[in-house]
Amino acid sequence: MILGLWEIILVFLISAAGSSLAILVYIKNPKERANQFFTFLVFSFLVWILSAFFSEIPKNLQYSLFFSRIAYAGVLLSAVFLFYFSFYFPRRKILKKEINYLMIGTSVIFTLVNLGSDLIIKDAVPVSWGFNLVFGKLYFPYLFFCVFAVFYAFKNFFSDFKKATKLERLQLGYLLLGFLIFAIASIIVNVIIRSIVGSDIYYRIGNYSGIFLVGLSGMAILKYHLFGIRVILTEILVGLMGIILFLQIIFAPTFQWKISTILTFLLFLIFAHYLLKATHEEERRREEAEKLAKREKKLRKEAEDLSFAKTQFLSIASHQLRTPLTAIKGYLSLILEEKYYGKIPEKMRKPVENLYLSTERLLKLVSVLLDVSRIESKKLELKLERCSLFEIIEEIVKLLEIEAQKKKIYLILEKPKEEISPILLDKEKIRQVFLNLIDNGIKYTEEGGVKIEILSLKNHVLVKVRDTGEGMEKEEIKKVFTPFYRGKTAEEIWTEGVGLGLYLAKLIVEMHGGRIWAFSEGKKKGSTFFVLLPKR
Ligand code: ADP
Repeated sequence: MILGLWEIILVFLISAAGSSLAILVYIKNPKERANQFFTFLVFSFLVWILSAFFSEIPKNLQYSLFFSRIAYAGVLLSAVFLFYFSFYFPRRKILKKEINYLMIGTSVIFTLVNLGSDLIIKDAVPVSWGFNLVFGKLYFPYLFFCVFAVFYAFKNFFSDFKKATKLERLQLGYLLLGFLIFAIASIIVNVIIRSIVGSDIYYRIGNYSGIFLVGLSGMAILKYHLFGIRVILTEILVGLMGIILFLQIIFAPTFQWKISTILTFLLFLIFAHYLLKATHEEERRREEAEKLAKREKKLRKEAEDLSFAKTQFLSIASHQLRTPLTAIKGYLSLILEEKYYGKIPEKMRKPVENLYLSTERLLKLVSVLLDVSRIESKKLELKLERCSLFEIIEEIVKLLEIEAQKKKIYLILEKPKEEISPILLDKEKIRQVFLNLIDNGIKYTEEGGVKIEILSLKNHVLVKVRDTGEGMEKEEIKKVFTPFYRGKTAEEIWTEGVGLGLYLAKLIVEMHGGRIWAFSEGKKKGSTFFVLLPKR
């Protein structure tokens, strides 16, 4: 006996939803084994549901028996296809040949025995609500086989749960949720309701809940908008409440009752709408945040790789350039001395001198590049020795005085007011820092000059290199210590610079545990560069 119109509608909906999902999954990826087995699984499930339904319709018990046997074949096929599905979802697993043959053999034998003999289902006998089945000798082995296949499938599904990615875990979560709903509904119907009602006329309701297993695993395969399980649970709960409220409207005994349940239902719909919207929104945000975090990590890694590649390239290139450049410079210097290669024709002297100067400039650039790459890749170690900062700077000033005189600007090193005791420094590297700062001061000053002050603070020595030249805008000050940065006016005044001097100076000063910074009141108002070095 079927349970009336409601059951017809329910069976129709389940068949429509199940077969469209099966087709959708198959179309999405027809070559994928997981998709194929899933489609078979759904159709076997539908065979089971529909045959069980049809077995209740006819008055003739022969038909009922026939449909019941087909329904049981559907049960076995569902279990077997779930078993095969589990070897391909969410990951591929190895299916041993023996197990495969055993599975196929047993399924074929049981199906043939089921459909062709009365060893599994013996007979259908009439009872007040329709009919009951009488089972044969092989019924329990048959059932045991189905249960075994389902257990094996779940063992498979969760076998590599630990190794699973986040998405795979979510997929498994969906599957498990579907199965739990199916199992709980079956227990409620087959055990609890059966013991209360005393008959199993409702058993099919338990079967129908299998659509949750089908639906949720279908979503898991399609991976279409896999929300967190929390969202799905909320949706199912809201759905169930909706159905219960709706049924109340239909079965309400009085008109007033109907009206009040309709009002409750409407209120519920509004509430459900907002609840679901909020849950989805929250989930979406969480997903977005996760995506952003992942992207950031990837970008950071890429930037690190790139920076490493750049440093590597600089280091190799400058190494390879240095040797031939040194040789060229050596030969040019010998030619210019006119001792070994004889007199240079007058016309050639200037070009050879230019060649020499250009090579020298290239060598300097190469050595700066090499220093930068060595510091960046942490290959450079400081050779610390105790030395007087004043003496280092004094030497540089003597060297650059000629340049200042050429430009008719002053270059003054103020005598410190108090004694500056020697500190631990890498002399050569610190020399490079101040050579660059003072050289810049002269380069970027046309009027006035450059003045250097050394101050002894409590734990530090502070050097100020102040010029009255080009000056810098606030924006420019922020950038001067970054690699390859060159100011606009700098590009006009000193075309040969590459914008590495201050960057290298910053790297060296920081390696000494010090700080370097710049100050300027603006364009044409001069600049001051500060270097703070720890006393140690
Ligand atoms: P380069 O001098 O080769 O361009 P630097 O790293 O030494 O490279 O300097 C970077 C930029 O900082 C310069 O191009 C210039 O714009 C600015 N700069 C450096 N020193 C001064 C200074 N004393 N006055 C004005 N601008 C300066």
